[in-house]
Amino acid sequence: MNKKITIAIDGFSSTGKSTLAKQLANHLGYIYVDTGAMYRAVTFFAMQNGYINVDSFDKEGLINSLPNIKLQFKFNADLGFAEMYLNDVNVETEIRTIEVSSFVSKVAEVSEVRAKLVEQQKEMGKDKGIVMDGRDIGTVVFPNAELKIFMTASATTRAQRRYDELVAKGDTVTFEEVLANVEERDYIDTHREDSPLVMAEDAIEIDNSHLNREEQFKLVLELVNEITKTI
Ligand code: C5P
Repeated sequence: MNKKITIAIDGFSSTGKSTLAKQLANHLGYIYVDTGAMYRAVTFFAMQNGYINVDSFDKEGLINSLPNIKLQFKFNADLGFAEMYLNDVNVETEIRTIEVSSFVSKVAEVSEVRAKLVEQQKEMGKDKGIVMDGRDIGTVVFPNAELKIFMTASATTRAQRRYDELVAKGDTVTFEEVLANVEERDYIDTHREDSPLVMAEDAIEIDNSHLNREEQFKLVLELVNEITKTI
């Protein structure tokens, strides 16, 4: 049997990282971890407790409350993936709103938040057989991952995908609002001091502006097969 590896998928917002990661995890029988969901859950906690709103961000308050935040993924067999739980409450729907998206990159800049989540992520991946997606997986969480993918696509392509998803869920958003959010998060994610979004030197870049899901999946699966043959 092939040995299990660690697959790190990084890239800009709405590049389809989670779609690819889920496909790979299902096919390979690996664990899938969406680290964006963890940053979103901390953001939702900050909103609920009044630490962040459109006018202010009480970083110290959030940092002091970090020990009170428990994050867990629980597998939902009907959906075929794990859902995010914040302090034992399923927040999978709540963390996907445009409001959470508008604050999440500010929360993700806080080093204390990153340290807590990165520690938990490393622990989840210690036995390999994991596909993890995010912004710093190949650079910080698993710098020794056997396969690192870095996904890109134009901002308008990505905003259109996110807009379609939100509208399908019944959210009332405009395309311009979604595009502005995607561009703002790209900027903050690539310019923050702690663990900015950069492509790891040994990552393979995939621009999927013109690739469909199946083509992309096939391409990455071939890479996985090549690597597992040689280890
Ligand atoms: O992947 P998703 O778009 O849900 O991530 C939401 C936000 O969480 C990103 O825009 C980024 O600010 C932050 N994030 C991060 N590091 C990760 C995953 C997500 O900073 N590993």
